[in-house]
Amino acid sequence: MRPSSSYTELGRCSMASDEQQRRMKREYDEGTPVERKKVADEKCESTIHEAGHVVMKWLVYGTPGSARIWQDDKGGWRGECDPDRPREAKEAMARGDCQVLEREVLVAVAGGVATDLAGGCAQWFDPRARCADDFKSAIELLCRRKGNGFNHRGDFERQVERAKPLLEENWGSIEALANVLCEELCVSNCRAEEVIGAAVKRGD
Ligand SMILES: [Zn+2]
Repeated sequence: MRPSSSYTELGRCSMASDEQQRRMKREYDEGTPVERKKVADEKCESTIHEAGHVVMKWLVYGTPGSARIWQDDKGGWRGECDPDRPREAKEAMARGDCQVLEREVLVAVAGGVATDLAGGCAQWFDPRARCADDFKSAIELLCRRKGNGFNHRGDFERQVERAKPLLEENWGSIEALANVLCEELCVSNCRAEEVIGAAVKRGD
């Protein structure tokens, strides 16, 4: 009995292993759309993030600048927006002009704030996260303000709170720009002006 029992055990075991293999394959196949969704979510998150920067830049300077998103070699989505500023703004930043620096902080935090407003999580303090560089820029900008006492976290959070209603009021423009970025992967200054103009006209 023993050998036969062992044999049956072995048979059951190898059947189990086949079954297990099939289950693993099924899980893998079923997992694929989830992975795809994750990538799509990440793409969507990066479009909303960049659109947040662009719309805030339009609000504080009257010109939105350009932005683009792309897929890195690991398949994750990355993005950047045009770092160019009007000459007066650059000069004022160099002088440590408080108002201009705070405007720049609003632009820097707008990506993460847009992510938050879209129901995501900005993750300012995770050095690997999308918002980490924006957080660093915002702190550097706040440090350059002249004649101000400085409370890192408090000042940063105040600017985040200031950015929220500004982006909320212009959510239609953010969504419209994010859609264009999603389709076209980049948006020029001209195209951004057109998209924002149309959203404002529609009253989004
Ligand atoms: Zn950003």
